[in-house]
Amino acid sequence: MTPADLDFDQRHIWHPYTSMTRPLPCYAVESAQGVELQLADGRQLIDGMSSWWAAIHGYNHPALNQAAIAQIGKMSHVMFGGITHPSAIALSRQLVEMTPAGLECVFLADSGSVAVEVALKMAMQYWQARGEKRQTLLTLRNGYHGDTFGAMSVCDPQNSMHSLYQGYLPEHLFAPAPQSRFGGEWDETDIAPFAKMLEENHRGIAAVILEPVVQGAGGMRLYHPTYLKRVRELCDHHGVLLIADEIATGFGRTGKLFACDHAGISPDILCLGKALTGGYMTLSATLTTRHVADTISDGEAGCFMHGPTFMGNPLACAVAHASLGLLAENHWQTQVANIEQQFKRELMPLAAHPAVADVRVLGAIGVVEMHQPVDMAQLQKHFVSQGAWIRPFGKLIYLMPPYIISPAQLTTLTGAIASALETRY
Ligand code: PMP
Repeated sequence: MTPADLDFDQRHIWHPYTSMTRPLPCYAVESAQGVELQLADGRQLIDGMSSWWAAIHGYNHPALNQAAIAQIGKMSHVMFGGITHPSAIALSRQLVEMTPAGLECVFLADSGSVAVEVALKMAMQYWQARGEKRQTLLTLRNGYHGDTFGAMSVCDPQNSMHSLYQGYLPEHLFAPAPQSRFGGEWDETDIAPFAKMLEENHRGIAAVILEPVVQGAGGMRLYHPTYLKRVRELCDHHGVLLIADEIATGFGRTGKLFACDHAGISPDILCLGKALTGGYMTLSATLTTRHVADTISDGEAGCFMHGPTFMGNPLACAVAHASLGLLAENHWQTQVANIEQQFKRELMPLAAHPAVADVRVLGAIGVVEMHQPVDMAQLQKHFVSQGAWIRPFGKLIYLMPPYIISPAQLTTLTGAIASALETRY
């Protein structure tokens, strides 16, 4: 990669949440193998991000490569309207088997945000089919569900983009974020504001949507599973649908296969994405119950009104099928448990640093929350100098490495954070 290539990138290519006039620095990656990213300048970085929760088995995995190659030799894509194929069937069969009980009908779409749109549309069509006008959603503050309009409308109104799109975004209800921490004492009063909002508005509420146990991009908050249990009980009591967005938490990241498993609950609609393909390419799945699917199908429209061009993309389904096959070998449980223990040993002590507000660990997620927002570009430069790929945002420095990371590689990541605190704060 030449300096002219990087210059072209800066002048012509948008990156996530960046400015065209003041772009943040970008590091050129030429390849990736296992847990390491190979920079164009020859440096190697240990990946602490799993490419945003996705690359759980590491990069360039032989089984995933093989699945992609085998599928591409047959067909990389074929339309899903009026056609089906073995990879979609094999994947959907796995998903129905492994997800919480009762989720039987699978909608395969393109990305996490679209999975959320699909879930919201399912909820709307469900009530329409039942002859009730319910179009409000109840969700939690500090939530994050994606960047499309429906998804944005249920992201935290303060730390997301509501003010930018005011008047255009539908207005929904936001309960306070849960305060009882994961692993701490459950405080029964924690659910009271949510219960009150549901009680007062349930006749207009189509669904509750939340991220179970871990609120990700809206603050990396880890909350008590009993909160989720109470939400399920209250939704049942009032006959409101529950949508669980497990796009970030699904497939073992929290120490359970799904975060809902911490509370032993099943949602009515489940959104999956990110790690579904082991981080190889974009694919999402929205699962629902037979009851919801049948109600929608027997309604006025007579079908579910969504059907993207690349629905059920065979290449993505084949790789996802192979990725779930790797999970079924069950090494992830020990790997995630070991990462959790090491995070506790190596990150928890950082809580004593005066610049650190809090340290939180769950499964293969480690979070160091600072008192003040960090200088992302400067901090990232430090991490790269330490051989670590860590991308902080706001006040949060966090790790969610591929499950296959070795203890020594993990120490490179936690050590990079510790040394940043020593040298910069
Ligand atoms: N929901 C959650 C909980 C997420 O973390 C994300 C992605 N950060 C999304 C939805 C949106 O997924 P995508 O970026 O694939 O559209």
